[in-house]
Amino acid sequence: MSGHTEVASGHAELAARFGTPLYVYDLDEVAAARRELADALPEEFELYYALKANPHPDVVRELRTGGDRGCKAEISSTGELAVALAAGFTGADCLYTGPGKTSAELDEAIELGVRTFSTDSVTDVRRVGTVAVGHGVVVDCLLRVNSANASATTSIRMTGTPSQFGFDSETLADVLPELRRVPGVRIAGFHFFPLSNAKDEASLVAEFQHTVELAAGLARDLDLPLRVLDIGGGFAAPYGVPGSRGSYPKLRAELTDVLDLHFPEWRAGSPRLACESGRFLVGTSGTLLATVSNVKVSRGRKFVILDAGINTFGGMSGLGRLMPVSVRLDGREAERASLVGPLCTPGDVLGREIELPVLSPGDLVAIPNAGAYGPTASLLGFLGRPAPTEVVVRGDEVVSVSRLELRRSAAP
Ligand SMILES: *Cc1c(COP(=O)(O)O)cnc(C)c1O
Repeated sequence: MSGHTEVASGHAELAARFGTPLYVYDLDEVAAARRELADALPEEFELYYALKANPHPDVVRELRTGGDRGCKAEISSTGELAVALAAGFTGADCLYTGPGKTSAELDEAIELGVRTFSTDSVTDVRRVGTVAVGHGVVVDCLLRVNSANASATTSIRMTGTPSQFGFDSETLADVLPELRRVPGVRIAGFHFFPLSNAKDEASLVAEFQHTVELAAGLARDLDLPLRVLDIGGGFAAPYGVPGSRGSYPKLRAELTDVLDLHFPEWRAGSPRLACESGRFLVGTSGTLLATVSNVKVSRGRKFVILDAGINTFGGMSGLGRLMPVSVRLDGREAERASLVGPLCTPGDVLGREIELPVLSPGDLVAIPNAGAYGPTASLLGFLGRPAPTEVVVRGDEVVSVSRLELRRSAAP
């Protein structure tokens, strides 16, 4: 495994102290990613942290701070709202998204001060309006737009095709008069989120250019002045493999140019601009440490069995995407083997027939860049194993050690 680093001595110490499977998140790295992304964007942009990437309270709190370059919160459930509030965000700092918002959750969100919702259908806007009226308030709705044609290629494409997300852009003219009449709601602007994990800066820039141009065209055609334009994200980070965050040296200038062209008043806050990120902000901050429980050979094939499987690091599996992860451990001969977890299902595979160092029971392995889509994106409840311990550090200092707990209680 040339080029990969050994399990860092600090990590080995933490594993010895707290056991495995163990997630380690470094807040210094989270802060560095936040600064880097803020610097890559024109300063007029607000940056929303998508809590689904990692809702650990210490991580969320770290992203909120940072003076006027701190993040706001993009949330999609009352559970995420509770975490955001506990981390010091106000309801007003939150953008509430999702295609299936119920009246009950909207009621709770509005009660707790959320005033901006991304909406995906006429029913959605009506529902937000009804709940807002019940609270005697008017709330902002962004219309999430599913563009008829998208420009970049990406690993996760969410527009340009039929989708539960957003209004099909070609239908907006038909539905807007109706949306404008919904009491309790102000149609404040557009929300786009057409791609995730863009493959390079050029495709991200192309997507943003397309988005800004489309937003300007729609605003003009629909005679809908935009107070807010959220252009989404797509900022990249490696997932369970070595590597570094995406690098966006040209983004700031490219965004400035396209905004100057289509929204001459943008520097004066018309519209207010926003974008979103999950994985870029937290992905590289995390490492998953696991221990080899057993190594076995079956019909000539080797299986390395870890104490961490898709119950611990299952984001890719749970989200229908294939691993493999990569294990950092060098100074050893490499061989081909399958890296599997401890669960009683043949689906518990982190990597099938991948290149691994020669491993023995008791060895510690480190899966790098596991700070996003970790425990909460995994099959935590499946087969009843405890959730992994999560230790938060700031450099050498241990900030907190905790684990999620799933337990049955009487339903109300
Ligand atoms: C998931 C999601 C994000 C974060 O995506 P990343 O690829 O982790 O940056 C941002 N915005 C919305 C609306 C999302 O659904």
